[in-house]
Amino acid sequence: MTKHSDQTNKSGPDMIYRSFLDRQIFALPKCTKCNQFHFFPRVVCPHCGEFELEWLAVSGKGQVYSTTTIRRKPERGGPYNVCLITLEEGPRMMSRIEGIDAESVKIGDKVTACINNDSEESFVVFTPTKEAN
Ligand SMILES: [Zn+2]
Repeated sequence: MTKHSDQTNKSGPDMIYRSFLDRQIFALPKCTKCNQFHFFPRVVCPHCGEFELEWLAVSGKGQVYSTTTIRRKPERGGPYNVCLITLEEGPRMMSRIEGIDAESVKIGDKVTACINNDSEESFVVFTPTKEAN
């Protein structure tokens, strides 16, 4: 396969990631060699250097790894949180938890991904997982 440098940007991993989100799919690249997912999407597997990656939809299940409350004046939207989430599939990603007070988010909380399409660019946020039992 010939590679065109001008196409690299348009079809790069970042664009693939976003095009899935635009279709309401949370997908990440998985290495065909070491079978590990990674985030943020890259051209090469960061674990083993393999170029052959496949995109697979992930479960969206994760756990809060760290949480920080960013204080903001109420008239500017109030406090919000910035979290690192460890996905069930392994990768860790920065996001935020919605549907809960920013200060109530705790490390170890189970969360579920949802795709936010409110703004022009779709992105992944998380909501607290409702325990079945
Ligand atoms: Zn790999």
